[in-house]
Amino acid sequence: MADKRDYYEVLGVSKSATEDEIKKAYRSLAKKYHPDVNKAPDAADKFKEINEAYEVLSDSQKRSAYDQFGFAGVDGQAQAGGFGGFNGFTSGGFDDFSDIFSSFFGGSMGGDPFGRSGYRRSSNSPQKGDDRLMRMTISFMDACFGKTEDIELDVEETCPDCNGTGAASPSDIETCKTCNGSGSVITQQRMAGFGYIQQQSVCPDCRGTGKKIRKVCPKCAGKGYNRKKTKVSLKIPAGIDAGQRLRVPGKGERGVNGGPNGDLYIQIEIQPHEQFERSGKNILLEIPVTAVDATLGTTLSVPTIHGTVDMKIPAGTQEGTTFRLKEKGVPDVRGGRAGDQLCTVHIEVDKKLTAKEKQLYKELQELQNKPGKESAWQKFLNQFRS
Ligand SMILES: [Zn+2]
Ligand SMILES: [Zn+2]
Repeated sequence: MADKRDYYEVLGVSKSATEDEIKKAYRSLAKKYHPDVNKAPDAADKFKEINEAYEVLSDSQKRSAYDQFGFAGVDGQAQAGGFGGFNGFTSGGFDDFSDIFSSFFGGSMGGDPFGRSGYRRSSNSPQKGDDRLMRMTISFMDACFGKTEDIELDVEETCPDCNGTGAASPSDIETCKTCNGSGSVITQQRMAGFGYIQQQSVCPDCRGTGKKIRKVCPKCAGKGYNRKKTKVSLKIPAGIDAGQRLRVPGKGERGVNGGPNGDLYIQIEIQPHEQFERSGKNILLEIPVTAVDATLGTTLSVPTIHGTVDMKIPAGTQEGTTFRLKEKGVPDVRGGRAGDQLCTVHIEVDKKLTAKEKQLYKELQELQNKPGKESAWQKFLNQFRS
């Protein structure tokens, strides 16, 4: 977009050109560059450029937006970053950018210049509300096995009595006389050296709605919506993982002009467990095994999130060995195969021994260090001989 030429420059007219001057300039250029007439390789591009410039400058609404905001004011693909000038915009009465745009374009432009769902194409048509995001922290075990949690929400809902119009009855709605229902008014201002500047702003009488209400709806006092406390039973599925979102339809931000509410998304966070560590569907657990059990082998009752499970430690188990307890991990959130529990062995060497134990260890030591038997230490030393 940065290499785009200024529309006035494209048509070769001044910024204060009248409608007639613009039309004349367009006609002569369009004739000259029409691809049927002009066979130059860049004629088609030129023709396109001319048409685009004319489309904007021939439309007083679009032209005024272009004068104020440049390409960003008229281009459906405009980036929010291109609107630096808005901060100093002081016409007043705007809630946010989308109001400015709906009043400028009155629904004639497709697409959302901000990529947001809250953009209103027209001030009168029903629009779905924005989605809303909340966070919720649940316990480790609730995440594993699921839970139904009752939550209370403050939700703004379209008033059912007036269908969001804010009027006591449909006959109480009349077209605003100041703007003839368009929602915007055009003011002209004389500027020294610039001729005059035409500026479009939100109608001060109806604040852009294009309507006046004679008698307001008693239920919502004319707001068109009511704030309601709503209880929702939130079903947290077994196996949900941190960062996953649950959708509650229709409990987001309120819709506009009788449109439905957006959706509520609840992002799940999980409290850590003191012993179990979760890795996706698997549970990780470090288990202490004595040197004697690791040497001779044994069976241990290992805690899992499903209760204790017997696990065989084979003779000669080494430090850091991981054993898998199949399907003793977290249930699959989509109903597939559950995860496993991965138990990693940490060998514990006794620090305190009874007299009897000490005596048995000594006997073992003598036996292992007997001349003629190659101990682990002897094997190690042999590596240093050349
Ligand atoms: Zn109402
Ligand atoms: Zn009005």
